[in-house]
Amino acid sequence: MADDDLKARLLAVRTPPPPPEPVTVVERTEVTPRLLRLRLEGDVLHRLEVPQVAMSVRLVVPWPDEDELVIPEWQGNEFLRADGSRPALRTFTPLDHDADAGRLTLEIVRHGGGAVSAWAERARPGDRAALSGCSAGYDVPDAATQLLVFGDETAIPAVRQILAAASTSVDLDVHLEVVAPEARLDLPVTWHVTPEGATPGVELAAVVESLDALPDGTYVWAAGEASAMQRIRNHVYKTLGVDRDRAAVRGYWKPARTDTTG
Ligand SMILES: Cc1cc2nc3c(=O)[nH]c(=O)nc-3n(C[C@H](O)[C@H](O)[C@H](O)COP(=O)(O)OP(=O)(O)OC[C@H]3O[C@@H](n4cnc5c(N)ncnc54)[C@H](O)[C@@H]3O)c2cc1C
Repeated sequence: MADDDLKARLLAVRTPPPPPEPVTVVERTEVTPRLLRLRLEGDVLHRLEVPQVAMSVRLVVPWPDEDELVIPEWQGNEFLRADGSRPALRTFTPLDHDADAGRLTLEIVRHGGGAVSAWAERARPGDRAALSGCSAGYDVPDAATQLLVFGDETAIPAVRQILAAASTSVDLDVHLEVVAPEARLDLPVTWHVTPEGATPGVELAAVVESLDALPDGTYVWAAGEASAMQRIRNHVYKTLGVDRDRAAVRGYWKPARTDTTG
C-alpha cells in the first residue's frame, strides 16, 4: 500500500480526543521568574481522570491578538475552529487534580514567545480557557531499582510527580536543565544551567551520552526539547541497545514551532 494511502487510513480511524471544555483561572502564582502556576476550575475537571504521573492535557487559549476564547472542534484529524483556523492549543502536565472540587493546576514555562506562555503571563482570576484530556503518562516500573530522569524546564511538573510517585526503594538520579540559576527549585536533583541561546538540552544529552551501560533494573525517563531527546534516544536505544520498555523519552517542544503533539 502506498505510504499516503496508509497515512490516510490511519488518520481516518484516529480516535477523537475529548472535546475541550471551558475552565476558569482562579489563581495565578509566580513560582520562579521562569515558571507560572495557574489553578483552574471547571465542570470538566470533575470528570477528568488523572491515573498516572506525567500525563498531558490540551489547553486552548485566545490568540494574543484576541479577547474572546473560541473553542475548537475535532475535524477528523485535528482541532479546528468553525472558520477553519487553528486554535492556540498546547499540551501541559496536569497537576494536583481534585475531582471533587473540580480543580487542576498547570505550571507554564515563561519562555517569552508562545501563545500560552504570553496568555499565562497576563492571565488573571476569571479569565477563560478550555481544556481537553488526559493523554497517557508514565508508571514507574515495579522492576525499577534505579530510575534515571532527565528533563528541561517544561518537564519540571512531570518530574516532580515522578519523584513523588517513585517508591523509596528506587535509587533516583535526576537531572534538570534550566536557562537561569533562579529557575531552580528546592528539589533533590542535579541542576544544569544552560543559558538561553545555547543549544537546549545539550547538557542533558551529554550526561546520557557519558553512560556506557544501563545495568538490569535501571530505567530511563526523559522529556524536553525534541532534538536533545532524539540524541538521548539514539544513545540509549542504538548505542546501548536498551529495550524500548526500559526508556520513555518524549519530545515536549521544538524551537521555532509549536509543541509536538498539537
Ligand atoms: C506531554 C507534554 C507535556 C508538557 N508539559 C508541559 C508543562 O507542564 N509545562 C510547560 O510549560 N510546557 C509543557 N510542555 C511543552 C509545551 O507544550 C510547549 O513548550 C509549548 O510549545 C508551549 O506553548 P506556547 O504557546 O507557550 O509556545 P508556542 O506558541 O508553542 O511556541 C512559540 C515559540 O516558542 C518556542 N518554545 C516553545 N516552548 C518553549 C520552551 N519551553 N522554551 C523555549 N522556547 C519554547 C517554540 O519553539 C516557538 O518558536 C509539554 C509538552 C508535552 C508534549
